Amino acid sequence: MTANPQPTRIVVVGGGPAAFRLVDALTARGLDGRTVAVIGEEPRPPYDRVNLARHWDQAADLRLGEASLWQQPGVRLRVGERVVDLDREARTVRTDAGAVIGYDELVLATGSYAWLPPVPGAELDGVHVYRTIADVDRMRSQLDSLAGQRNRSALVIGGGLLGLEAAGGLVSQGLDVQVVQRSPWLMPAQLDQGGGQALERLITGLGIRVRTETAPQAIERSPTGGLEVTLTDGSTAVADLVIFAVGVRPRDELGRLSGLELGERGGLVVDETCRTSDERIWAIGEAACLPGHGSVGLVAPANAMAEVVADRLLGGRAVFPGVDESTKLKLSGIDVAVFGDALSRTPDCLDVVYADPARGIYQKLVMSDDGATLLGGILVGDATAYASLRPMVGRELGTGPASYLAAAGAELPGASQLPDDAQVCSCNAVPAGAIRGAVRDGCQEMAGLKACTRAGTQCGSCVGLVQKLLNTELTAAGVEIPKAVCEHFPMSRAELFEAVRIARLGSFTAIVDRFGSPVPDGAVNRAAINRGCDICKPMVASILASLHDEYVLSDGRGTLQDTNDRALANLQKDGTYSVVPRIPGGEITPARLKVIAEVAEDFGLYTKITGGQRIDLFGARLDQLPEIWQRLIDAGMESEHAYGKAVRTVKSCVGSTWCRYGVQDSVGMAIELELRYRGLRSPHKIKLGVSGCARECAEARSKDVGVIATDKGWNLYVGGNGGFTPRHAQLLVGDLDDAMLIKVIDRFVMYYIRTADRLQRTAAWIAELDGGLDHLRAVVLEDSLGICDDLERAMEEHVESYTDEWAATLADPDKLRRFRSFVNASGEADRTVTRVPERGQWRPPLDHERDAAVPQGAVLACGPRIPVRGR
Ligand SMILES: Cc1cc2nc3c(=O)[nH]c(=O)nc-3n(C[C@H](O)[C@H](O)[C@H](O)COP(=O)(O)OP(=O)(O)OC[C@H]3O[C@@H](n4cnc5c(N)ncnc54)[C@H](O)[C@@H]3O)c2cc1C
Ligand code: SF4
Repeated sequence: MTANPQPTRIVVVGGGPAAFRLVDALTARGLDGRTVAVIGEEPRPPYDRVNLARHWDQAADLRLGEASLWQQPGVRLRVGERVVDLDREARTVRTDAGAVIGYDELVLATGSYAWLPPVPGAELDGVHVYRTIADVDRMRSQLDSLAGQRNRSALVIGGGLLGLEAAGGLVSQGLDVQVVQRSPWLMPAQLDQGGGQALERLITGLGIRVRTETAPQAIERSPTGGLEVTLTDGSTAVADLVIFAVGVRPRDELGRLSGLELGERGGLVVDETCRTSDERIWAIGEAACLPGHGSVGLVAPANAMAEVVADRLLGGRAVFPGVDESTKLKLSGIDVAVFGDALSRTPDCLDVVYADPARGIYQKLVMSDDGATLLGGILVGDATAYASLRPMVGRELGTGPASYLAAAGAELPGASQLPDDAQVCSCNAVPAGAIRGAVRDGCQEMAGLKACTRAGTQCGSCVGLVQKLLNTELTAAGVEIPKAVCEHFPMSRAELFEAVRIARLGSFTAIVDRFGSPVPDGAVNRAAINRGCDICKPMVASILASLHDEYVLSDGRGTLQDTNDRALANLQKDGTYSVVPRIPGGEITPARLKVIAEVAEDFGLYTKITGGQRIDLFGARLDQLPEIWQRLIDAGMESEHAYGKAVRTVKSCVGSTWCRYGVQDSVGMAIELELRYRGLRSPHKIKLGVSGCARECAEARSKDVGVIATDKGWNLYVGGNGGFTPRHAQLLVGDLDDAMLIKVIDRFVMYYIRTADRLQRTAAWIAELDGGLDHLRAVVLEDSLGICDDLERAMEEHVESYTDEWAATLADPDKLRRFRSFVNASGEADRTVTRVPERGQWRPPLDHERDAAVPQGAVLACGPRIPVRGR
């Protein structure tokens, strides 16, 4: 076969990511008199299907590239038109609008369709697939028609990548979701059994029920109006929506019609140049059947094929470089990544596995038989290592493989250790050297770097590593690393806080629209640049929560929050939650103690007194939280915010009320402070302590705000904390009376909230203030910036508008919905959560105790006997 030296009319059938990439590559290199026409049947220009889940938020912009691409001379885009016929002899295609278009070179980029298996009832209204924007719109409009109805539910058929992403999207819409998977574990195409089981635990923790080793047999309209699905294991499931995500099939119908060679399992057979059996016809993306691979459902090979064909059409000699099937699940809160030979198919390879089932972590590295070269890996529960390890596939790791497993406590390879030819962005085949080169050539901020290299513009999993490479290069060049929060916001957290406060904005979308980084010229993927990330989303959520004392999960803010905030409880290592009622100042009546004890007994919760003088109840399932909180709230208690980046406890000693050394009422002051600052969201947790005399029994100087009584009033210390870098609080001011003490704390805390960096404790914040403690004294005592009134007013507003989040949740059925996923199973034993007895209570089993463990549900109301001697 010979290349056509001067093609003039290039016609591309299909308007998906592969077609976009082809046109982008052609125009970047210059069409040089050629024309390119793209015909797509969807009613919109190519969009980023990889990020389809973002279309649940209608404001998200998924367009690929700039609109100007389609206005360039020689480029034509026809949307909403399907090619229905291909005449290879005449070299024409015909569309369903009757247009006949001639070509010199034809590129078939028709992608795949979502497969709907022949299950009786699959044609009913309410049965969906998940492939296009129109699919999501259809699901949304069905949900809208069910608005106001309680217990909206969905059944997702297929527990692979797409099924789980679909399930995550539906949970974010407030639905009860179940996933049905034919094989014994989730994501069987990517994960081995250990990984699949760890993933099931994580998915269940999101409130999604998983049913494995079963499949749908028939779907019927249920008498209540939903759909009733009969499964092969004899059980049934009723849901409003049924979504099939059981695989895709290549759109090869034009090839079939015109006699092109097809693969055994479909797809247009191509050689290593992506040419089909007709020398004038090429196939790229999911429609192509690659030698030795078949059709590959990933965007990286689609991009690579588009680049190869662009090069060939312009007279080059490029060949397809091979398939990298690395992939990462894009489900908020669930870390799953696979790369290289994840399923250990290489003969004589060695597996190095680190598994901690209780924490839901499973990590496996597949090594060559001498244990030196990395062949692939699976990371579930903690995929921090993915971006660093994936580029190392096929290379010697240098040290023992176990030392690369982050969950085993290891150091990951740093950005500087990556060889120049290691591929950092697999979607766009960008090696580390290209990123370093671009930084040296002047791309010194993230958005520009992404735009000029394309790295990180598609699935986004390498963005952290790209940022590290950028920082490493800048540091080496002696350039100060910019204080921008991330690529989406060009300012520091403090600047953003001020901007949001003054502009009175109340949603992430409004904030990113107004203050987000501008999309740089030449950006290849607006959607990826516009969407926000794991750095800025929780930070904006925290800013909004600090500024507006509204329900923390309202106005779609729930999706911005961390897992703990989303559940209004602390996630524990076995996927259950802990509950901490507020006990202001550590003072509690016997009647309330009794209620806590009864709740703990009735729900089989492990009880422990915390370092902050509170009682922590461990081991509650998500669905049990509302019932537990109802009982605590009925007894006059409220949430303690142990789960939030917020003011936590105010620890105190007994003070002058009982202690013969006490000079002030430390308990009374602690209660006053705790009730004043409760629920206040901040860049990091804030702890306070009050001691009734200089003996310091409350250890107040280890707190962010420490108050120690003196004969004349109170000494105020600030900036203490424990943790990795313990700090003693420093004296800010001495001998304050009660009113002045509160005033100064108001100012200090508000100033910190407004100006600290994200996740910065008070000690680090004070150390970084220009002028340190002296500056702080000037601001909060001498009002050097003239903002004290404003800081006090902001605190007053917080105090006046405070409401208990759990009380608000229980009062509103819509809010309760997020905890309702297991409501039908309430009280039943959950076989995946197990317990063993210890010292008269129940705790999660260690690995060697699993066989003897009992289901969590079985321990309710029947605590173990307290052993005569402890272990
Ligand atoms: C929800 C979801 C999440 C995904 N996540 C990832 C991920 O994380 N990582 C990853 O690598 N991949 C992911 N993918 C897969 C990725 O989106 C695909 O590999 C990629 O879209 C393939 O691009 P394509 O252009 O070959 O095909 P498609 O995206 O299928 O585009 C083909 C287009 O051609 C049109 N067309 C077909 N036939 C005709 C015709 N006869 N006439 C006119 N137009 C026609 C189709 O309507 C479609 O618009 C995901 C896919 C989905 C659905
Ligand atoms: S700090 Fe002082 S007042 Fe408080 S308990 Fe200790 S000795 Fe008593």
